[in-house]
Amino acid sequence: MSCSTLAPPRPAAKPGTRKKLRQRSAPDRTQAVRRAVQVLFFALNVWIGVEFYLFVRYFENGGQGWKIERPPGVEGWLPIASLMNVKALLLTGELPPHHAAGMFLLLSFVFISLLFRKAFCSWLCPVGAFSELLWKVGRQTFRKNWRLPRWADIPLRSLKYILLGLFLYAVGSMSAAAIRAFLNGPYGVIADVKMLNFFRYLGATAAITIGVLVLLSFFVQNFWCRYLCPYGALLGLLSRWSPARVRRNPDPCIDCAKCTVACPSQLPVDELIAVRSPECTGCYECIAACPAAGALQMTAGRRRLPAWAMAAGIAVVFLGFVGYAMWNGHWHTYLADEVYLRLIPNAHEYAHP
Ligand code: SF4
Ligand code: SF4
Repeated sequence: MSCSTLAPPRPAAKPGTRKKLRQRSAPDRTQAVRRAVQVLFFALNVWIGVEFYLFVRYFENGGQGWKIERPPGVEGWLPIASLMNVKALLLTGELPPHHAAGMFLLLSFVFISLLFRKAFCSWLCPVGAFSELLWKVGRQTFRKNWRLPRWADIPLRSLKYILLGLFLYAVGSMSAAAIRAFLNGPYGVIADVKMLNFFRYLGATAAITIGVLVLLSFFVQNFWCRYLCPYGALLGLLSRWSPARVRRNPDPCIDCAKCTVACPSQLPVDELIAVRSPECTGCYECIAACPAAGALQMTAGRRRLPAWAMAAGIAVVFLGFVGYAMWNGHWHTYLADEVYLRLIPNAHEYAHP
């Protein structure tokens, strides 16, 4: 299945007819812009994590000490609950009483993918940013990253779609009433606390699994994202409708293949006219690596889409959804302290129904 527009076969170059490089005049700033957004979003997630931990500790201590408000942004880490709420919203037309923030965050990421490809992965996701840091450190250390052979790469890449299919099937088979009963029950209400406790009290199997994934990420670019992340799989499929795509102009292109070497998603950019693959994260790495003026650019329709415009667009969509949720009073999940005092210290007693 071809996901991109292939360039017509290149005629064999006659001796002495190599194209002359017309060098880019301005230095590349795409990666500086993207890095700034990544750092900002990573810091936001760390802040949310610390706040949420202190919130949980307050209730674990029986309501003693310094009370911290629960940060609604923590629900961005509850993709399944968010997906359930999207389905219940579609079926009932009613906004959910619990974890609505997660639903609005998921919808904002879906919208970002429909507009700017799978940009969530390379611009916003803290796991994606950490993963990128690991393979860059790995490349610095070993002077290269490794690519899995095709016979392993293709079946492994399908794993994330299989996982996505399982989650979609599980959520798709639930009625609105079943979703509400699940999310309004004790386990659903403290699903975020259960997730935090999973990392706080990591079992041996989970710790080894995470350790292996971290180790593999030093050697193979974005191992988790490329092979296993169902969230990225969903956003990648939706990105097929995005008007944004990398376009190569064969006239100024000198066929140096630096774009293909730079692409963390291993896409053959130098052989394409337009990149439409669901693996493209809109990271601009290929554009940053291209030495030829006007050979490669991100476009939206027929217009050039500079990195700062993509950053601004992502911010508008993200803040638009968060702002709307705040404005209509569905950003915070309001629960009485007595409920948290009863559930949080006993979180280990509530198993997945
Ligand atoms: S390097 Fe280019 S083609 Fe590859 S994922 Fe990034 S934007 Fe897409
Ligand atoms: S980096 Fe890619 S698009 Fe740019 S000149 Fe080289 S082959 Fe052409």
